[in-house]
Amino acid sequence: MPFIELNVLNNAADPILGIDLGTTNSLAAIWRDGRPQVLRHEGNDGRVPSALYFPENGDKPIVGQKVREQALVDPRGTVFSIKRFMGRGLADMEGELSSVQFPAKEGEHGLIQFDIRGRLYTPQELSALILMRVHDLACNALGGQHLNRAVITVPAYFDDSQRQATRDAARLAGLQVERIINEPTAASLAYGLDQKKEGTIAVYDLGGGTFDVSILSIEDGVFRVLSTSGDTHLGGDDFDRLLVGLALEDLRSKVDAETARDPAFLQALRLAAERTKMELSSRLEAEYHLVVPESDLRYHREIRRSEFDALAGPLVERTLDACRRAMSDAGLEAKDIDEVVLVGGSTRIPLVRQTVEEFFGRKPHSELNPDEVVALGAAVQGHILAGGTRDILLMDVVSLSLGLETVGGGVDKVILRNSPIPCQATETYTTNVDNQTGIEFNVVQGERELAGDCRSLGKFELEGIPPMPAGMARVAARFQIDANGMLSVTAKEQSTGTTAKIDVEPMHGLTDDEVETMLKASYDNAQDDFDRRRVADLKVEIDRMARATRAHLDEARPKLDPETLEDIDEALTAADAAASVNDPDAIQKVRDELERATLPLAAVLMDEVAKQAVAGKTLEEASE
Ligand code: ADP
Ligand code: MG
Repeated sequence: MPFIELNVLNNAADPILGIDLGTTNSLAAIWRDGRPQVLRHEGNDGRVPSALYFPENGDKPIVGQKVREQALVDPRGTVFSIKRFMGRGLADMEGELSSVQFPAKEGEHGLIQFDIRGRLYTPQELSALILMRVHDLACNALGGQHLNRAVITVPAYFDDSQRQATRDAARLAGLQVERIINEPTAASLAYGLDQKKEGTIAVYDLGGGTFDVSILSIEDGVFRVLSTSGDTHLGGDDFDRLLVGLALEDLRSKVDAETARDPAFLQALRLAAERTKMELSSRLEAEYHLVVPESDLRYHREIRRSEFDALAGPLVERTLDACRRAMSDAGLEAKDIDEVVLVGGSTRIPLVRQTVEEFFGRKPHSELNPDEVVALGAAVQGHILAGGTRDILLMDVVSLSLGLETVGGGVDKVILRNSPIPCQATETYTTNVDNQTGIEFNVVQGERELAGDCRSLGKFELEGIPPMPAGMARVAARFQIDANGMLSVTAKEQSTGTTAKIDVEPMHGLTDDEVETMLKASYDNAQDDFDRRRVADLKVEIDRMARATRAHLDEARPKLDPETLEDIDEALTAADAAASVNDPDAIQKVRDELERATLPLAAVLMDEVAKQAVAGKTLEEASE
């Protein structure tokens, strides 16, 4: 008897996991240290792609990240988007079956089943395999602590049989389901919106393959779904497809019809497209590249965010149709909405954020990572169910990016806005001129591209760097933010271990309004900043190239014809004048011209080095 009592007590004290079982990605979170936190296993972001691969030899299925790589090699053994089939009959699913590379059959009560290498699997069983993987990784991230109680999320529009299938999947995975909650409700909980007395919330969820919008009302901490709408075939995959189409267009003359249909080639292209898309969410320009060694195929182009936006615009517009439907079903207008919450990885796309903000006429919540917010909310629900209380919701994230000023006045962001705290990051720097023995660090805060437009938090100097040629020294700058939001920056020269350090309180003296204003300025000036940053970086590069040219010009002079020398002189004069040029294209020309003019010089120098090496000297002596 005492044993049983103890057991029950223990169980009640056990924290409850929150699990987001997504169409594209799944992840787990838990309440820890007064806030919900995503459970990240070693060096990973915690996300488990909701994908399975069944090896041909009948071995155990593989789940998660590796499946996406496996799809490059053998796309025929993969299962994606299983969530679409939960609790559904075969008859409803015509046209959906391509995400599962195995034949579908009708099972009990007309429900769907898949024949995978001779064994029948229900969607519940397949989802259970994903949940087991998520659960395993969560327990690992907890240092081996074994928790098996969970809150699991489902889309607001899931009917009873879809919810029941989700419960069954969790049970098969060995989890004890404490509650099934709606994804939009979870997202609202993560933002602490349950603590409002009353109001209406629009949750805009653009994931990998689906779009859902839900209008919720909140009354005394209780959420009610007023309406839902969406598009079950609109999501991040469609953005990837646009970029895939762009590449195929560019490659038309290089790729034969057979390659263009090859599943492995298409999968590689899809991954490259997704990488490019993600990069464009944080940069104004990205490299879109792909190398397929087997077919000796190389593809490379630069793409600007504005080009991507032009392609993506119509898709983003389509989400607004669903928003309009949801609002009219709820009998509301945009002005009646008090809070807008962004959910889903695809809401990281700036065009999406901007469009949603314009549509609802208010800034949406995006302080938490949109692809984590559902799991975080499930963990909040778990915490409440486990009997926990929540006094204040701590929104413990870095509210403005932190970084260092670089030579030329640019900013190198080391910790990005919205990183959860505590956190740390290290970047490595080097010297810019020969025999430089000190580096001054200017720690800056803000989203702008140039240090002059950011807030300087403090400067400090690292001295005692041993004299070395420019670019040889290695100085690691470590940014560390503790749980109280205190920032310390430590710079350490690697060969001698010399360090210098500064401690600052980043939010000291900043009001919420000022943070808002700084953020707005960065959106308003994005293009302009980008150009000015490019100019600043090019000036530094031109300066470095001109110095190197002058250092070697005299020794090579006898070997260069007068025309070339004149050419170089002209380019150097233009380089000297570049300091006062501020047009990005003009200054790019100066740089390119200097590079072109000095090519013969570089060739002479290379020649020298090669000759002396042949004459039996070592390369080091030769280049002196
Ligand atoms: P789901 O809820 O459908 O399981 P997620 O919310 O995890 O999916 O969203 C996955 C989608 O988000 C993918 O299409 C992925 O490419 C996209 N995504 C993730 N990060 C970014 C980013 N930084 N920029 C644009 N899209 C992103
Ligand atoms: Mg989702």
